[in-house]
Amino acid sequence: MKESKLSVKIDGKSYQVEPGLAILDACRNVGIDIPTLCYLKGLSKEAACSICLVEVTGAKALMRSCVTPINNGMEIYTNTERVRNARRINLELLLAGHPKECLSCDRSETCELRKIAFDMGIREVRFPKTSKTEFPIDKTSVSIIRDPNKCILCGRCVSVCSSIQSVQAIDFSGRGKASKVTTFFDQGLASSVCVNCGQCLLVCPTGALTEQNETEEVWKALFDPDKFVVVEVAPAVRAAIGEEFAMPAGSLVTAKLAQALRKLGFSKVFDTQFSADLTIMEEGYELISRIKNKGVLPMITSCSPGWIKFAEHFFPGILPHISTCKSPQQMFGAIAKTYYAKKYNIDPRKIIVVSIMPCTAKKFEAKRPEMKDAFKYWQKDLNLKKEDEFYDVDYVLTTREAARMIREAGINFSNLNGEDFDEPLGISTGAAVIFGATGGVMEAAIRTVHEVLTGKELEKLEFNALRGLDGIKVCEVDIQGLKLKVAVANGLSNARKLLKDVGDNKSPYAFIEIMTCPGGCLGGGGQPFSADGEAKPKRMETIYQEDRNKPLRKSHQNPAVNALYKEFLDKPLGEKSHHLLHTHYSRRQEPL
Ligand code: SF4
Ligand code: SF4
Ligand code: SF4
Repeated sequence: MKESKLSVKIDGKSYQVEPGLAILDACRNVGIDIPTLCYLKGLSKEAACSICLVEVTGAKALMRSCVTPINNGMEIYTNTERVRNARRINLELLLAGHPKECLSCDRSETCELRKIAFDMGIREVRFPKTSKTEFPIDKTSVSIIRDPNKCILCGRCVSVCSSIQSVQAIDFSGRGKASKVTTFFDQGLASSVCVNCGQCLLVCPTGALTEQNETEEVWKALFDPDKFVVVEVAPAVRAAIGEEFAMPAGSLVTAKLAQALRKLGFSKVFDTQFSADLTIMEEGYELISRIKNKGVLPMITSCSPGWIKFAEHFFPGILPHISTCKSPQQMFGAIAKTYYAKKYNIDPRKIIVVSIMPCTAKKFEAKRPEMKDAFKYWQKDLNLKKEDEFYDVDYVLTTREAARMIREAGINFSNLNGEDFDEPLGISTGAAVIFGATGGVMEAAIRTVHEVLTGKELEKLEFNALRGLDGIKVCEVDIQGLKLKVAVANGLSNARKLLKDVGDNKSPYAFIEIMTCPGGCLGGGGQPFSADGEAKPKRMETIYQEDRNKPLRKSHQNPAVNALYKEFLDKPLGEKSHHLLHTHYSRRQEPL
């Protein structure tokens, strides 16, 4: 039976509120905001910052509203002199031990600590600078930098890493002045089980967690007349980068983005969606081959590099289930430095591939030692030595870093008219766009696999059961009597639920899509810090809209991909594909 609503008074006004809520949630539900630094809806509550204090009639002490349940008849005051003074003292104590490097801090624009201090009218800190332990900055990871000196011990990162991602790479350690968030045995992030997803970074209210910034290297390449710098843009970037320019969440800015990148000076502006279509060709044929030849099933997608590292650490026994296809980012790099270089007679050593991704783990993926297949391809012909080695993808920028470069160049992004991507590596279908949303790779693969197996056109392209933000989605696809059970998981704690059965050989599915981040790439750790909690569904709808707008919506219809097979690769899963587009995975250090 549903419990009846509670009658409460907040700031002198009567309200009916849902039972079972904390005071903070109840207040926010009726439109009264209370400042917080550590609270994050839906996650475990650390109650660490003590900024959300309120006065409750009858209670001697002020209450932390994030953890105090609301009760019938309660009288709450959110903005009294006592509340305001206590909040300010707590905040000033936090600030006394804080580096205050706002001018040069990566989070300067989006820092919640800076904003809250400003909003609460803090113009000076009355306490002397506390002699906090000076911690070394952890720059070991190619994806993420940790600066424990800017950490306010709010615990959000620890919660996300453990409950959303089930990775537990970080936790609290030390006491008093030496308290910090760190990895096991204080090893650098690079030596830990961290999968580089950046979900911790997205929720961090300060500059304690930031991405490894590669914009300087990209500027240097752009200004080097001897380099031919091409850029590829992931699908989810176009549905989110507008937010960096004060446009509403979900603004579709594909054409503006292509134009802005051309203005930055890239020699060619290409699209990762081209290689997403290519991925579907290779992955689709791999699935068909596994089904026909009784290969290892379920096959699991391989586009999300955080998921790959997660499997290498936590589920090494299921690695043969993972598709050998490289991700679209890596396929693009390998093709740009072989096929494209050859077709347009460009020295592959001069080509610099920059990718713009919604993802911090993509930085890690690009630097995997095996991702040098274009170098291997040219080694003999160009007599390349070990010291000439180059990666397939040179630099990876997050959506946020790309936006920073556009701002730095003084480009008025929202006023741009828009331009097309360059051909041929800028041509894509609707199937490639939906890679940006959880369920999209699966849907794109089904569109192609169905037609290849049946030779008939698929009438309904949308698979609604695979859409939306649920953590796990399942569906049965009927391909002329062949019933394929498929599943989609986003967020690694959801993936874990499916993987146990795979490891025990009990999985009922033939094909599983796993995306590291909640929502898929549109919720990636490199995306804009979303002030609007509704950003994800809006970004998702934009991605599906872009799919509907495309004249071609199936990967096997992409004329540029078909030309690539005709002119260079020969056929999906062929010899050249094997060397350039496929990879392998290895067991990593066991979790401690
Ligand atoms: S974390 Fe925030 S308050 Fe601290 S230096 Fe950076 S911008 Fe300033
Ligand atoms: S990047 Fe992901 S795995 Fe690594 S610490 Fe952050 S949340 Fe955990
Ligand atoms: S690193 Fe950021 S999210 Fe983690 S505890 Fe420190 S301030 Fe909070």
